[in-house]
Amino acid sequence: MMGPKQEAQAALFYEFSLEDHVPQGHLLRSIDRFVDLSSIRAHLADFYSHTGRPSIDPELLIRMLLVGYCFGIRSERRLCEEVHLNLAYRWFCRLDLTDRIPDHSSFSKNRHGRFRESDLLRHVFETTVARCMEEGLVGGEGFAVDASLISADVQKQNSSNPEEWAARDTDPTTAPRAVREYLDTLNDEVFGAATTVKPKFTAHADPASQWTAARKGPAFFAYSTNYLIDTDHSIIVDVDASRSNKTAEVGAMRKMLDRTEERFGVKPDWIAADTAYGASDNLVWLALKRQILPFIPVFDKGERTDGTFSRSDFTWDDENDRYICPGGKEMRHTWRTYSDPKRNAPVWKSRNYRALKSDCTGCELKAKCCPNAETRSVHRDKYEIVRDFARQCTTSEFNPKAQARRKKVEMLFAHLKRILGLGRLRLRGPCGVQDEFTLAATAQNLRKLAKLKPMERPAG
Ligand code: SF4
Repeated sequence: MMGPKQEAQAALFYEFSLEDHVPQGHLLRSIDRFVDLSSIRAHLADFYSHTGRPSIDPELLIRMLLVGYCFGIRSERRLCEEVHLNLAYRWFCRLDLTDRIPDHSSFSKNRHGRFRESDLLRHVFETTVARCMEEGLVGGEGFAVDASLISADVQKQNSSNPEEWAARDTDPTTAPRAVREYLDTLNDEVFGAATTVKPKFTAHADPASQWTAARKGPAFFAYSTNYLIDTDHSIIVDVDASRSNKTAEVGAMRKMLDRTEERFGVKPDWIAADTAYGASDNLVWLALKRQILPFIPVFDKGERTDGTFSRSDFTWDDENDRYICPGGKEMRHTWRTYSDPKRNAPVWKSRNYRALKSDCTGCELKAKCCPNAETRSVHRDKYEIVRDFARQCTTSEFNPKAQARRKKVEMLFAHLKRILGLGRLRLRGPCGVQDEFTLAATAQNLRKLAKLKPMERPAG
């Protein structure tokens, strides 16, 4: 029998509890157990005036942002609509059915104002990391580091070459926020000060973004999100935004390692990364300065693929400061002997060790050694001993395990782009980008906590 037609009838009174309508297994219920925002009012106390109208509760704004980043809703307008309509979101934000949702403009006002001045988003992120540590999810022995490109919110059409852009004589007082932030970060290592390479184009709307073709496809404007993770359970222990070039990403790695030790007293025994982090300077910094074992492939130009001898075919004789070539002849960086001992041991960053022309001319291995040159030379870095140590690490028995764990950071980037929808940035400028990356990393840690520490279901 067909029932009566459903008609909307406005009841005068409802008996309704949000608590009863949010499913016990809902992700937000699980996440809510790990969100501790009790300290943010004290953290922000100095940034609020003691007079005037009461402001929107900062905890409500942070809870809404966490909902947005956990479910891939990064538009603040849409977030307000979704929180208005979704019962679980209201429950998580501690809003009753009749409570008003803040206007979307409150987010940008607070973000550009007191949230940024007080570094609140980083405080929330670090609170989450501390919670992961309390729950025993951070072992602190092995870390992995990597960076991933995220498209900036700019168009190629609205860009010009860097010289043209610099010649425009931008007035910092009237320039857009993203341009002012770019001018403030000109001396910042992770925003390009460390590299002398000039990009091809500068985006007018967000000059700090980098024109890059690192994905081997068409070039685009991007920022890099850098993750430092603990490899036990893929917890993100630090996150940083940088320009998309190797020098900036290595700078971000050092900054994150220093900051993690300073904030949490955690320094890993070893770290795994890809070849982008395998330059000599970085290996020296890790192995000598920080005493961290680098499971990082050495950035090496000495290996040849054309069938001729690679550098590894030459034997190093440390005692006599020379190489022995495959033909058994010695190779020296200088064949002169100076009477002044200082001239014998000059300050150097790298040296070329060369065989004698007389040895090579009649050598039967010449075709395999230096077919197009009179003699063969081998380049040696000042810290080659550290590079050798890194090579030993990457050929050790533990290396396959370290490299397998390194993949976890790539899985986090895939999750970031596919599940959290962060394939393209919404905010501009170094600070806006940092905010987005920090919130996304916080959301990923919370989701990880919810997954690894499931709720106990009530019996029955
Ligand atoms: S060509 Fe020269 S450097 Fe090469 S193996 Fe022969 S002697 Fe040694």
